[in-house]
Amino acid sequence: MPRPIYAELDYSALEHNLRVIRHRTDARVMAVIKAEAYGHGLLRSAEALRDADGYALLDLQDAVKLREAGFRQPILLLEGYFSASDLPLLAEYEISSVIHSHQQLAMLSAYPRRGSLAVWLKLNTGMNRLGFAPDQFAQALEAVRRHPAVGEVTLMTHFAHADDPVGVVAQLDRFNAMTSAYRLPRSLANSAALLRYPQTHADWVRPGISLYGSSPFADVGAEQLGLRPVMTLASEIISVTELMAGDSIGYGGTFRAERAMRIGTVACGYADGYPRHAPTGTPILVNGRRTRTLGRVSMDMLSVDLGEHPDAEVGGRVTLWGKGLSVDDVAHAADTISYELLCALARRVPLK
Ligand SMILES: *Cc1c(COP(=O)(O)O)cnc(C)c1O
Repeated sequence: MPRPIYAELDYSALEHNLRVIRHRTDARVMAVIKAEAYGHGLLRSAEALRDADGYALLDLQDAVKLREAGFRQPILLLEGYFSASDLPLLAEYEISSVIHSHQQLAMLSAYPRRGSLAVWLKLNTGMNRLGFAPDQFAQALEAVRRHPAVGEVTLMTHFAHADDPVGVVAQLDRFNAMTSAYRLPRSLANSAALLRYPQTHADWVRPGISLYGSSPFADVGAEQLGLRPVMTLASEIISVTELMAGDSIGYGGTFRAERAMRIGTVACGYADGYPRHAPTGTPILVNGRRTRTLGRVSMDMLSVDLGEHPDAEVGGRVTLWGKGLSVDDVAHAADTISYELLCALARRVPLK
């Protein structure tokens, strides 16, 4: 028998979440499936999202895999190409590319062929990570548009504050000021902007996290948004221990029992992708009922409080996150975001 940990993926929830998003916008939906579809498996997630209008990811090899699997929608490389030798492959497989830098422009201008490469020109409106600054943008656009290898050009930017109180107004204004002179398709919105700021929808929205059933907001839960969790990380109790007052648990003994108590050891640790920095008190389900983790998370195991679960025994079912316990609640307790937890799911955890 293998270890009892597994991640169950409910691909019908992925289809459901895409429909929820469609109801919120008239824009075309580019499903973001970077990082193995946020840990959910690239090809199987793309298949569940076959009604999306396009896919966005990072690796050219993954884009080629999608094409070879028969997906016909636009496929966009969010960081663009990394070498001039990628350009013929983009053309061959009809893969769209972000262009965000002068280095990429230089590779393009040295590319001798004609074609209809779809380019998403990225503007830096305040994220200060990728993209052309306002004073470089017109020249970059000119260079892209007159290149005979380039077909349709889409203008894009990315928000730094769509999920927090600062909001999108400053970046949106900057983007509109830079692009209003051009009649070209536009794309701005990630999940947070899509769900909170309809004025950012434009021609293409780019949801990621919401497709996987997690909320991009700290103050609104996924359930309130009508989203369903896709991944449920589950395991079992493999040992039950009775503690006496004063006993402590695990490395460093960071949790010490004040009175006699029952605890369970769960086959799940940080080598499975569970966050090591999740403190005592992080929510967890045992046999479908909520309890809390205790002490430090180890590489392969963690401990849970069975005080209110007198019938929980070895073999008891544990849900680390997913159905019945939002990954957002676990992320919040561990002082991180759901994105990190989902993407960090370890390869050794079998997907079901
Ligand atoms: C990851 C990413 C998205 C999706 O963001 P979510 O917050 O997961 O919806 C959209 N656009 C770009 C450029 C991204 O890198």
